[in-house]
Amino acid sequence: MSDPRNGKRPRPKLAVWKLASCDGCQLSLLDCEDELLAVAGAVEIASFPEVSRAEIAGPYDVSLVEGSITTPHDLERIQEVRRQSRVLVAIGACATAGGIQALRNFADVQGLVGAVYGRPEYIRTLERSTPVSDHVPVDYELRGCPISKAQLLELVTALLAGRAPDLPTSSLCQECKQMGVVCVMVAHGTPCLGPVTQAGCGALCPALGRGCFGCFGPMEAPNPDSLAARWRELGLTPEAVERGFHTFNAWAEPFRDVARREDGR
Ligand code: SF4
Ligand code: SF4
Repeated sequence: MSDPRNGKRPRPKLAVWKLASCDGCQLSLLDCEDELLAVAGAVEIASFPEVSRAEIAGPYDVSLVEGSITTPHDLERIQEVRRQSRVLVAIGACATAGGIQALRNFADVQGLVGAVYGRPEYIRTLERSTPVSDHVPVDYELRGCPISKAQLLELVTALLAGRAPDLPTSSLCQECKQMGVVCVMVAHGTPCLGPVTQAGCGALCPALGRGCFGCFGPMEAPNPDSLAARWRELGLTPEAVERGFHTFNAWAEPFRDVARREDGR
């Protein structure tokens, strides 16, 4: 429907929200240098704290949510964002898997708080860092630490066109082979998370001769136990296998307890 004041169709309202995170995924949006003006022209940026303190009231057509739920305040905010948003997209490893801060989920949080803060009684924190989808329905997820600029643009243009975004679900190995990269695990015995990690980065690390450490999180239907067994054959200790899976996406369900399961066999 057009705006009766100027006869133009109102642009969809896009909001960007930040929870517990480093802002890197929001910076990926700003990093769309060449495309940003076209994106900004096609939508009304209603809230984007990384860019401006100005905020237009909801409801919003699309909300991009960066960061994990780590405090009681985060829990209230995500409920409100969900109420105000027609489409909610969780962006990045924090919002989709709890992020690097989810490493605390394997430890005694109160012990960590006491070790880090001089006045721990002022800290309000949850026992776990969790993904957005643990608390509210999420329409789409963009993986990565940080997210892929190409996937972000695909998602925004798809939503503007009213079609489903074309996002990969296959493994990084597939992308790695399509790029013609020599497998670091086969050729050099270097542990690589590629066989269980979702494609999206262009196999950046194997192309530079190092293993993937999984910043795009688990692919669809991964087999991490099998990969962990292969790593043990390569000589990794159970502790090293656990560390390999416990990085940005440590709390993603397929990666959570793989090393412990290996240990128990
Ligand atoms: S280098 Fe890693 S991502 Fe590439 S094919 Fe080998 S295991 Fe897969
Ligand atoms: S190869 Fe793995 S660790 Fe490297 S950028 Fe891609 S997903 Fe991240």
